Amino acid sequence: MTLLVTGIGELVTNDPDAGAGLLGLVPDAAVLIDGDRVAWVGPAASAPAGDERLDAGGAAVIPGFVDSHAHLVFAGDRSAEFEARMTGEPYTGGGIRTTVAATRAATDAELRANARRLLREARRQGTTTMEIKSGYGLTVADELRCLRIARELTDETTFLGAHVIPADFQDRPDDYVELVSGSMLAAVTPYAKWVDVFCERGAFDGDQARAILTAGAKAGLGLRVHASQLAAGPGVRLAVELGAASADHCTHLTGADVDALAGGDTVATLLPGAEFSTRSPYPDARRLLDAGVTVALASDCNPGSSYTSSMSFALALAVREMRMTPAEALWAATAGGARALRRDDVGVLRPGARADLVVLDAPSYLHLAYRPGVTLTTTVLHNGVPS
Ligand SMILES: [Zn+2]
Repeated sequence: MTLLVTGIGELVTNDPDAGAGLLGLVPDAAVLIDGDRVAWVGPAASAPAGDERLDAGGAAVIPGFVDSHAHLVFAGDRSAEFEARMTGEPYTGGGIRTTVAATRAATDAELRANARRLLREARRQGTTTMEIKSGYGLTVADELRCLRIARELTDETTFLGAHVIPADFQDRPDDYVELVSGSMLAAVTPYAKWVDVFCERGAFDGDQARAILTAGAKAGLGLRVHASQLAAGPGVRLAVELGAASADHCTHLTGADVDALAGGDTVATLLPGAEFSTRSPYPDARRLLDAGVTVALASDCNPGSSYTSSMSFALALAVREMRMTPAEALWAATAGGARALRRDDVGVLRPGARADLVVLDAPSYLHLAYRPGVTLTTTVLHNGVPS
């Protein structure tokens, strides 16, 4: 069964061979979908026939958003902490333990229902690939059930047992590092594609992060690092040195960090929803882009520091507050996210790619940042199926 999406006023392909500029823009375009894959992309006037037709009515079409950083498996809500922050208290990361307690107390069914709700919410807003982390269980059994639930929802599952040191290990953190890189890692490996560490003062230092990431790599997992969100630290350089797919946050960078990112193949994933929700300075995206670093944007959806699943919100912040151009921001939220997950079948519309695309209620992708706070998705196709 083939589907011809036609009447596309402006098509973003992210394929520089297919169209103009960074976004590979094609005006008056069509996309032929065969099953779950893109079969053909080009001008509508020369489009092949399809068994069915979807007329975009002159609207813009973009690849589905690739959200490469999200924490969806949790219970509870931290709106009171948000309120306190907005009335002057600083963000310290300590509230993570509140969510850990609620998550441990929740049933599998409650955790599953909440994660599904958030995934549906993201899908409605155009996200067709979503990475999901554990990290609110922090026992072998709780990390395992969180990753099992995550694996029901996505292939991009990340083991974040090293989110914070749980309260009962507070005075013996190295024992916890040993647990995470030993029996906890062994238990969750069948359900995880990636391993991640919150490398930050108050969480895990450079040596602890290195031990966990090295153990994860040995177990066959890809690497990701929460790095330099609250202060400059060793996380970014460690990520590059170990060949991590992504260093996430990158809010407080040294010159050496930027040089390392520019010289390696680790993506810098920026999460402006976190700076928005913690009222913190935004990362310097221009400095990274000007140094030639590959930049991704992601939601960081989590109940404490960024409770939004909206990629278009991240994109609008990146344009307004971080001086990314609208084209750079959309690329980062689609193709950039795919790079951060080491994927070449999503975040792009070309023959062979997954048929993940979004018809916007707008004539141009520019409206994503130009009309902040407005959900502009009319149709979201995921694997060729409307959702
Ligand atoms: Zn995070």
